[in-house]
Amino acid sequence: MIDIHVHYFPEGMFQAIWRYFAIPDHGLWDVKYKLYGSQIIQALKKEGVKRFTTLVYAHKPGLAGYLNDFIRESADQFPELIPFGTVFVGDGRSEKVARQIFEQYKFYGMKLHPFVSNENLDDPRFFPVYEIMQDLGKILVCHPSSVPIYQKTDGSIRLRKVLNQFQRLKVIVAHCGAFEYEDYSLLADDFEYIYFDTAFNCVHSEFLANNCPGREFFLRYQDRILFGSDFPNIPHRYSKQIDSLHGLNLGEAVERKLFSDNAIKLIGLEGA
Ligand SMILES: [Zn+2]
Repeated sequence: MIDIHVHYFPEGMFQAIWRYFAIPDHGLWDVKYKLYGSQIIQALKKEGVKRFTTLVYAHKPGLAGYLNDFIRESADQFPELIPFGTVFVGDGRSEKVARQIFEQYKFYGMKLHPFVSNENLDDPRFFPVYEIMQDLGKILVCHPSSVPIYQKTDGSIRLRKVLNQFQRLKVIVAHCGAFEYEDYSLLADDFEYIYFDTAFNCVHSEFLANNCPGREFFLRYQDRILFGSDFPNIPHRYSKQIDSLHGLNLGEAVERKLFSDNAIKLIGLEGA
């Protein structure tokens, strides 16, 4: 099994994120698995995960470089990691950073979280980065939709602007684009390289209603949906995410695609 949506921050940043999540006013949740580093690897191994991504994102200048270096060191140490970095255009050196993480560090892709970074996907300062990614076949995991608490729903419009310019850019829309499933379905129909991850989808939870795009969505995009969990920043048991997807009764062949084959194909991993 491959998990395409795992966060892998340094301990101090994880602690800050978990503290933020726990503040009742924020409408989030108390994170169940307060794990970092090798603890994450051990916990995921127990759940049957062989390889997983290292999603990080920056919310202020100067942080992306630190995170990218941390991911590089961690990936050198642990072969289970599928290294993903990030770019913060406010740093003013996005093209240089993109060359570093993709050409020198050989990362498989990067994560952008526009709501946290306050940097829009269609900010032209990202365009040189997308150009490099498109040329090298790197993957953009992004969270442009409103789940769980964000007020803006124009993410698909912004992403469409990007894809109009970079039609071969491989993009994974996190959380199946919840809650704007229709908008992201249209995007997937128009652009060949739009993919989805399942993080939080279909888990029956008091924190997230309407988190399942439905069985038809999974069947329709069965070659483009990749299993993801949002581990460790989840309020539920990890197995609940797996069980929820099994509960859709998609059949063995579709499940194999979802839990591993689609990721192997997209990322180019062997034997995972
Ligand atoms: Zn996430």
